Amino acid sequence: MSDWMNWGTPQARPSRYDVLFEPVKIGPVTARNRFYQVPHCNGMGYRDPTALAHMRGVKAEGGWAVVCTEQVEFHYSSEITPFIELRLWDDRDIPALSRMVDKIHEGGALAGIELAYNGMNGPNLYSREVPMGPAHLPVATFTYDPVQARRMDATDIKNIRKWHLAAVNRAKRAGFDLIYVYAAHSLGFLHHFLSRRYNQRTDEYGGGIENRIRLLREITEETKAAVGDTCAVPIRISVDELMGEGGLYKEEVEDMIGLMADLPDLWDVTLAGWENDSRTSRFSEEGAQEPFIVGVKRLTSKPVVGVGRYTSVDRMVSLVNKGILDMIGAARPSIADPFLPKKIEEGRFDDIRECIGCNICVSGDFTMSPIRCTQNPTMAEEWRKGWHPEKVRKAKSDKPVLIVGAGPAGLEAAQALGKRGYDVMLAEAGTELGGRVLLEARLPGLSAWTRVADYRKLQLNQLANVEVYFDSRLTADDVLGFGIPRIAIATGSTWRKDGVGHLHTLPLPIAEGAQVLSPSDVMAGRLPTGKRVIVWDDDHYYMGGVMAELMAEKGYETIYATPASEASTWTRNTMEQHFIQKRLLEKGVTVRSFTALDAIAPGEATVSCAFTGRQERIEADAVVLVTARLPNEDLCLDLLARRAEWADAGIESVSAIGDALAPATIAHATYAGRRYAEELDGEPLAEHALPFKREITELLPLD
Ligand code: ADP
Ligand code: SF4
Repeated sequence: MSDWMNWGTPQARPSRYDVLFEPVKIGPVTARNRFYQVPHCNGMGYRDPTALAHMRGVKAEGGWAVVCTEQVEFHYSSEITPFIELRLWDDRDIPALSRMVDKIHEGGALAGIELAYNGMNGPNLYSREVPMGPAHLPVATFTYDPVQARRMDATDIKNIRKWHLAAVNRAKRAGFDLIYVYAAHSLGFLHHFLSRRYNQRTDEYGGGIENRIRLLREITEETKAAVGDTCAVPIRISVDELMGEGGLYKEEVEDMIGLMADLPDLWDVTLAGWENDSRTSRFSEEGAQEPFIVGVKRLTSKPVVGVGRYTSVDRMVSLVNKGILDMIGAARPSIADPFLPKKIEEGRFDDIRECIGCNICVSGDFTMSPIRCTQNPTMAEEWRKGWHPEKVRKAKSDKPVLIVGAGPAGLEAAQALGKRGYDVMLAEAGTELGGRVLLEARLPGLSAWTRVADYRKLQLNQLANVEVYFDSRLTADDVLGFGIPRIAIATGSTWRKDGVGHLHTLPLPIAEGAQVLSPSDVMAGRLPTGKRVIVWDDDHYYMGGVMAELMAEKGYETIYATPASEASTWTRNTMEQHFIQKRLLEKGVTVRSFTALDAIAPGEATVSCAFTGRQERIEADAVVLVTARLPNEDLCLDLLARRAEWADAGIESVSAIGDALAPATIAHATYAGRRYAEELDGEPLAEHALPFKREITELLPLD
C-alpha cells in the first residue's frame, strides 16, 4: 500500500470538546467515545455484502465508537422487497454479517445490528407469505400494494418471539456487540404494537400502554437473557408520531419509556417515521428532533442516543453538557464524513465535510442502488472502486492538469488531484468557487448547499500545488496556448428554454414576444414582468418546486404545472415530496398535475390533459420552463475539433466531466470529479473489464 497517502495534520483541539471523547458504558460493552453511527439503510444489503462491510469499516476507521447495520430482516415471513436490506433468515446469512463485524472491529468500533420484522410494512413480494401485524389492515407501503396484513394470534406472537430469539443468537455468533430491539419509524411490528392507530387489539397486547408495550418488553427481556453479559441491547423507539393524540405522542412515549426505564442497555430515540427523522435541510434545521427528545434522559439511568443531522461540534458538546444526549447519533453526517469523529479529535475542523441535508443518500435505498452522497463521492465505492474518503494514491507522473470550471466537478477533481500531488491549474470564468451550488444556494431553502463549495475551498487552501485563476473564461486558443498536457473540462450546464425535457423531445412552439425564462435566467437575477406566472416542471426533481416557491414568495400569482402526478415527483426518493407539495399549497401556488404544456404565446399558454389531450388556454404573463439542461460543451468541442494541434501544444487528453458531459445531480458532479482524479494515470482497464468490483451470488445445485 506504499502508493497510499493519508491526508491531514492533527492540531490541538479546544478542551471543551474533550467531553465528546469520553468512553461510554453501554451495558456490558464500552464505547470508546460518544460518536454513534445509528443504523442506516444504503441500498446494498444482501446484494453487496462485501461493499457494505468495507463501507462500515471505513466509518470505524474514522473514529465512530459504534457502527451499526441497517435494518436486518430476521425472518422470511417479513421482508421488504423491492428494497434491499441485510438479511438474517438462517445460518447462511452469518458469514456476510461476520465479514462486516470484522471490518468494524478492525477499525476499533463496536458493531451493532438492528434486527427488524417489518410486519405490516412489508408486502412480502419475494416470499409470498401473508404479512402479519397487530390488526387486519392494508400494508402500510407508499406504493399502496394490494396486500393486507392479517391480525397476529397468540401462536403468531409466540412464533415471532422465537424467531427474534433465533436471530439474536445468530447475531451473537456473527460477533455483534449491540443487538437492537427495533420499535421505531413505523417500520416494524413492535412500533405497530405500540401505536393505537395500528393496535386495536382487545387481548393482553392491546389497549392501555402497559399492554401495548408488553411485546416490546417481552422481546427485550428475552434478548437480554439470550446475550447475557456479552452484548448490549438497545431499544430504538419513536418519541412522537407527529399526529397529536391520533398516534404516539411525546407524553405517552415518555410514559412507555418510564415503564421500561432501565430494561434496555441504551435508548436510541427517533422522531416519527423516517421521512420526519431524516428531513432535508430545505425543511428542517440541524437538531429539529431536540424538543422531542429533551427529557428522555431523566426517565432512565441508561445512555441515550439521538440524531439531528449534527455537524456543529459546539452543539454536540452542549447536548452532552445539558444532559439531553449521552451519545451523538448520526447517519447522514457519518455518510458525508466517515472521519468526522477523528477530525474533531485531531482538531482538523477545516477538513470536515459537512452533510448538506439533501438526502441523495436516501435515494440509494429508495432506488435499490448503492448509496451515494453529494459531499462524499467515495461512499459505497470503498470496495467497488478502491476509493477512500481520506486517503489518495500518490501521483503516478509529474504531468500537470488544467481544470476548466470550478463547480462541484472541477473543485472535487482539483482537490483530489492536488492531494495526489499533481500540479493543478484551476481556471474559473467567475469570481467565486462553487459553480451551480453558489447559485442554487441562494434559492429558497437551499442555503446549506454552499457546504459543497466550502469544504473544497478549505482543502484547496491547504494545497500549494493547486493554483486558482478567477475571471478566466478560457477559449480553445487559451488552452492550446498553455500547453498543459491533461485538460478536464468542468464547465457545467445551462437550463434549456425550448421546452425539451422528459415529455417533449422536440422544441415546443413558442410564439414571438412570449416571455419565457429558465432557472438559469432566474438564478442570474432575471424575474418575469407581469403578475401571472406558470412554472412548468418536466424535470421532476427539486428545481421546479423551488422555482414555484420563489415565484410565490416574490408575489406572483403562480401556477405550478407538471405532466407528473404530483409536484417534484422524483423527490419521493429523497423523502421530500410531501413536504414540497404542502409548502407550495401553503404558499398559495396552484398545483396542476397531469398537465402537459403544448405551446406558449404572449400572455397565454396552451396546456392539455396528459390523459385525454383536451386542450385549454391559460392566461400567463410568463412561463418558467424547468425541463432539462444542455452541457456547456463549446470549449470541449472546439478542442476536440482541433485535435491535430494537440501534439504541438503538448496536450495529451481532453475530458469533459460532470454537467459539462451530461447534466445530472450535484452528487454526480462530485463523483465525476473524483473519478477523473482517481483514474488519472491508472492502469488501463482490460477489454470488457468492469470499472468496479461486482459480487456474484453463489449458485446452488440445479435441483
Ligand atoms: P458541475 O456541476 O459539472 O461542476 P457547474 O455548472 O457547477 O458544473 O460549474 C461550472 C463552472 O464552470 C462555473 O463556475 C462556470 O463559471 C465555469 N465555466 C464555464 N465555462 C468556463 C470557461 N470556458 N472557462 C472557465 N470557467 C468556465
Ligand atoms: Fe448529507 Fe446529502 Fe450526503 Fe446524504 S447525500 S449524507 S444528505 S450530503
